[in-house]
Amino acid sequence: MDAWKVRDGALHREAAPDPVPAPDELLVRVEACGVCRTDLHVIDGDLPVRRPGVVPGHQVVGTVVGAGDAVRSTGFGDRVGVAWLHRTCGTCRWCRSGRENLCPDAGFTGWDHDGGYAELVAVPEAYSYPLPNDDEALALAPLLCAGIIGYRALRRAQLPPGGVLGIYGFGSSASITAQLAKTAGATVFAITRGDRNQALARELEVDFVGGEDAVPPEMLDSAIVFAPVGAILTQALDATARGGTVVSAGIHMSPIPEIDYDRSLFYERDLRSVTANTRADGAEFLALARNLRLAPAVSAYGFDGVADALADLRSGRARGSLVIQAG
Ligand SMILES: [Zn+2]
Ligand SMILES: [Zn+2]
Repeated sequence: MDAWKVRDGALHREAAPDPVPAPDELLVRVEACGVCRTDLHVIDGDLPVRRPGVVPGHQVVGTVVGAGDAVRSTGFGDRVGVAWLHRTCGTCRWCRSGRENLCPDAGFTGWDHDGGYAELVAVPEAYSYPLPNDDEALALAPLLCAGIIGYRALRRAQLPPGGVLGIYGFGSSASITAQLAKTAGATVFAITRGDRNQALARELEVDFVGGEDAVPPEMLDSAIVFAPVGAILTQALDATARGGTVVSAGIHMSPIPEIDYDRSLFYERDLRSVTANTRADGAEFLALARNLRLAPAVSAYGFDGVADALADLRSGRARGSLVIQAG
């Protein structure tokens, strides 16, 4: 098959053997795969190499074309989603208490296991998500990481009903999360660099759009920081009201500057992180996205445009959710 692989800190297009599904795995022909900032962290080595020559991509929409002997309920031709969480141990204290996202032995798609920048991908049946056939693959793909992580971040943000949410950085996950929060009646302020990000925030009718140093017009009840920049966490804490919560949604972040306790953290402001997601998060969010008809703002690229998409994401030129469409 045709695949994009990470070698020596760069992506290379190569011919690769077709994946062979393990007994409990599905073999999936990729229809579309979303582009995520985590893919850049894998390529750049911000995340340590776990599988040399790995195929990145962990927001896969595809069709089942093969299966191992132990697969029970998913049939050929069914449409499934493949997300970041590839497998967990099932026996550690986090797995046993509904927090499999924190499993120390978890494996991840596009980091420990080959992902969706390829024609085919293998996924454990138990970690795949059934997807409807009647939606566009391009519109479903960004839901599988950007959407699910945004959903978990929003829950971790403990936004009160009708509260004020600040969103720092306005890429794929932020734009889906803003839609979700607005649907729930929140006031949403977007603080972001990039003309395209700011224009998208305006299109989505958020209540305030400001540049990266902007101060929101009201104190925030909650903030979610999607930009991978530690200094923005303190900026968000300073804009958050007493008793509020700031969530860092990224898997990687530059160092956080010294925090002035009195100014930025006292008065019971909470600073929290988000780490991957449980399968329950994924299933809940995908059902919610369908019921609410959440529509990611997609910028599509061809399979030969993977490197272009990642370059656009890196430079801040990207708009909304970047998705690779299979040939
Ligand atoms: Zn991701
Ligand atoms: Zn575990």
